[in-house]
Amino acid sequence: MGVSMQGSMIAGWMLAVALVHGGGMSVRDAQRYRTETDPHGLITELQSQLDQSGQGLAGAVLREKLWLLGTAAVNVNDVAALHEATTRLDELAGRTHDPAAAADAGFLRSRQLIAASQGDGISEELQAAALVQGTTDPVMLGRLHYTLCDAYAMSEEFTKAIPLCRRAIATYRTQADAWGMGNAGNDLGIVYTHLHRYDEAIPAYLEARRQFASIGAGQMVVLVGDNLSQAYRKTGRVREALALSHASLAQEQAAGRVSDALSSRADIALDYAALGQPGKALALMDAVVADARDAHLQGLLPDFVRTRSEIEQQQGKLRPALADAREVITALNQRNAAVLRSEEARLAARYATREKELQILALQRQNQVKDLQLKAAQAEAARRGEEQQRQSLRIMFGRGVVVALSLMALLLYLLLRSQHRHAVELRAQALRDPLTGVENRRAFQQRAMDLLAESRGFPASTSAHVLMLIDVDHFKRINDGAGHPQGDEVLRIITDGLRRAAGDVGHVARIGGEEFAVLCPGCGAMAGMRLAETLRAEVATLALPPEAKVSTVTISIGVAVFDGARCHDLSSWMRAADMAMYEAKSHGRNRVVASALAT
Ligand code: GH3
Ligand code: MG
Ligand code: MG
Repeated sequence: MGVSMQGSMIAGWMLAVALVHGGGMSVRDAQRYRTETDPHGLITELQSQLDQSGQGLAGAVLREKLWLLGTAAVNVNDVAALHEATTRLDELAGRTHDPAAAADAGFLRSRQLIAASQGDGISEELQAAALVQGTTDPVMLGRLHYTLCDAYAMSEEFTKAIPLCRRAIATYRTQADAWGMGNAGNDLGIVYTHLHRYDEAIPAYLEARRQFASIGAGQMVVLVGDNLSQAYRKTGRVREALALSHASLAQEQAAGRVSDALSSRADIALDYAALGQPGKALALMDAVVADARDAHLQGLLPDFVRTRSEIEQQQGKLRPALADAREVITALNQRNAAVLRSEEARLAARYATREKELQILALQRQNQVKDLQLKAAQAEAARRGEEQQRQSLRIMFGRGVVVALSLMALLLYLLLRSQHRHAVELRAQALRDPLTGVENRRAFQQRAMDLLAESRGFPASTSAHVLMLIDVDHFKRINDGAGHPQGDEVLRIITDGLRRAAGDVGHVARIGGEEFAVLCPGCGAMAGMRLAETLRAEVATLALPPEAKVSTVTISIGVAVFDGARCHDLSSWMRAADMAMYEAKSHGRNRVVASALAT
């Protein structure tokens, strides 16, 4: 039974504990399981939860969600989601002075560095660990030992990893955390395997399998089983390896995991070869290769063809062995190029979308996320300086893909950096009209809403707010006579005139094609009318260039005073000004009309 004691740290979750998966798995374990079995789905779900209620969550609950988000992101190399998790953890650490949040961010960054074979993940890991030295939080204690174990294992510092993995297992045992024991046990097995200490690897794997099985984490049982069968094979216990491969195959076929099932059949073929049944092995491999071709599993084909080539060599069938070996080389080259292109495009698109969403959230919440993002990018740049290649345990694709993935990481890094550089610019652009340089409709509305929110509760008086809506008269004629570019030029000239004449009293915004708004906070009805008349006269006397084909241009202005009665919100205010403007049009244009109440 895997409901863990760690839940006491995260009260919200304990309340939510419900048993799923046939009564075996707690909500927390189910989420941790999904970081391995459904990382993409989990990322999407957590991001939308965070967008909806991120700020309202208690610190510990928020931290745990961000940890899960980051863990899933590392598992699928989702740079955008990882960036979001670490940035928000840093922000949380800054806001709540919680070193655990800062440590989690560091652990995640370290895992990513190590998984991508980039930079010095171990020193990042040690720095993060230092933040929570001496912690008594059981969740943090387990995480501290396990991430160190994992970091050393993945960085191939196997002898350093052993005591840490053991300590992680012991820590998780005191909390009856089966998931933790499973993961740390599997790592311990991997470490022993790499040191060729199979007799120690096997019991570690067996125990990890037992733990995963106890909470119903079937796919993890299979995953550890595959590692275990490898260890069995190495020690000549081929029959036990074969039994495990058959068990994996049954599970994978039942779950419809086609490619995993093919891999298990390839393992079985290797076992037959080891058991001295090469004919059976080769027939099975022929079938596996054919099935992989039918299912268009180009990614797996090279591995299968390579396995078949090995078995053919054992049988002395050198010609087909050589043909297969050639196919492997060609396929790997093609695959590297394709992986690079499609992954880069996918991640770039995802990064761009997510970054925009985050910018909007950041604006709304007015927090310091942007600063932190910038700092994260700078820190990333500094770490790159110490970049060193490390081989990762999880690299299964061969050297070509390592190069491709490193290139991809570099491209993404460059993308990230330029995104940050443009973030400030983007935000400003979102509120400006590109043609005239004045504020656009969105900025105008924001400004007007802010103004009304500020003055709520104050009585309308001599210092009432005044709004003018302006429409250029017969503007279509300029476009028709001189062309659209000249029309644009006239719009710019009008804008400059309006700004000049409005001075500090009115904020000019272009809210539509040839329509403008001027907002005059607290200027009062009389001064507002005077200013409107000044604007009208200014535009009527503007000198237009000869290319515009007309010598003058005029505007019609509707003026409305915010009186708190008929104009009681932004839309009624704008409606009043708009009606006045249309009245100006219908009375012959080139004039100022005040809304009924402004007079
Ligand atoms: P009036 O308002 O006096 O009734 O006449 P109008 O000719 O201005 O009438 P209307 O509002 O129908 O036409 C506005 C024109 O403004 C139509 C459209 O092609 C043009 N327009 C809108 N946006 C732009 C722009 O960004 N640049 C240019 N050059 N023209 C634009
Ligand atoms: Mg118009
Ligand atoms: Mg017009």
